[in-house]
Amino acid sequence: LFAAVEMAPRDPILGLNEQFAADPRPEKVNLGVGVYYDDDGKLPLLQCVRQAEARLMEKPAPRGYLPIDGMPAYDNAVKALVFGADSDVVRSGRVATVQALGGTGGLKIGADFLKKLNPAAKVLISDPSWENHRALFANAGFAVDTYAYYDAAARGVNVEGMLASLRAAAPGTIVVLHACCHNPTGYDLTPGQWDAVVAVVKERGLVPFLDMAYQGFGHGIAEDGAAVRKFVEAGLDVFVATSFSKSFSLYGERVGALSVVCASKDEAERVLSQLKIVVRTNYSNPPTHGAAVVATVLNTPELRALWEQELAGMRTRIKAMREQLVQGLKEAGVAQDMSFITRQIGMFSYSGLTKEQMQRLRSEFGVYGTDTGRMCVAALNSRNIGYVCRAIAAVLR
Ligand code: PMP
Repeated sequence: LFAAVEMAPRDPILGLNEQFAADPRPEKVNLGVGVYYDDDGKLPLLQCVRQAEARLMEKPAPRGYLPIDGMPAYDNAVKALVFGADSDVVRSGRVATVQALGGTGGLKIGADFLKKLNPAAKVLISDPSWENHRALFANAGFAVDTYAYYDAAARGVNVEGMLASLRAAAPGTIVVLHACCHNPTGYDLTPGQWDAVVAVVKERGLVPFLDMAYQGFGHGIAEDGAAVRKFVEAGLDVFVATSFSKSFSLYGERVGALSVVCASKDEAERVLSQLKIVVRTNYSNPPTHGAAVVATVLNTPELRALWEQELAGMRTRIKAMREQLVQGLKEAGVAQDMSFITRQIGMFSYSGLTKEQMQRLRSEFGVYGTDTGRMCVAALNSRNIGYVCRAIAAVLR
């Protein structure tokens, strides 16, 4: 039966992790992963999560099946967070939200639903994008192409190119957009540029699918949700995949959601019924623990305040690392202007280093980033930053 099965290529990031784990050098640094580490180089367990778990333990609940679309208190908290509790779309019941297995699960439920709805549609992802976007939509049966995004020479976003790609897309084309903290480049659109994108999406009748994996890591919870609200205010039907993996440091619990903004309450009810079929036929219903934790935090004012404080702490630490990286590179003798690193936002930096330079960083210094030049600045800390700066300076020389 399996004689003709070919070996699938290794996941590039996970492959890098394996290589890192096998590296015996004590000074090695892993900047390949998309994970936030604290200044001690540890994966944080947030205080708000510990306190929510303690509250849940006080009243241990039996583990029945959740509804197919997830825990109601969780879905409602997601809606409030993403669109605003007082937003028209939420109050009028125009948002269909399902709990999902992380942000990836939210994207996949949306992709499967869209495939049934409009099987001939094409999908556009940014050039470059999170590696899994292409594979996920291709596996859902779509032809996947890219829209212009990164401008290496300008160290920023090629907005004109992006708008031209969108203008050239056929009506009904699904456009996957990073709502904030673009992965992998770290370059986001400005509010004005978002307005221009929203206008073209509307004019061309494209289907916006916003991927929100880093809400709160850019400028703040509300600020990072601004792009979503622009699409909603323009009266567009929009898909939003939410992930709490990073913002709650709950990677392994798989907590995320898919929200679909519809034109009416009746439409939202019909859409929800279809999303539930996708869930039911894939994994039946979602798990309880992560959603219970997130719902408890978001729905308990003092825990919510604590979360916002802790999230701000992660955001501020990343910003400080960006500044120290720029300063440290200068001190290590890098002559070129590296200040673009502080204009980037979120967990990643497209460093501009070549594949050869990235490979030298790995082989000569045990500093692991991806061949594309992407580095996770959220894995830098006060102990490893000096070493990383010297290593980068050496390969830039
Ligand atoms: N989208 C983007 C842009 C991401 O970077 C990630 C996580 N690396 C995800 C989605 C998926 O998040 P999750 O782990 O919650 O599935």
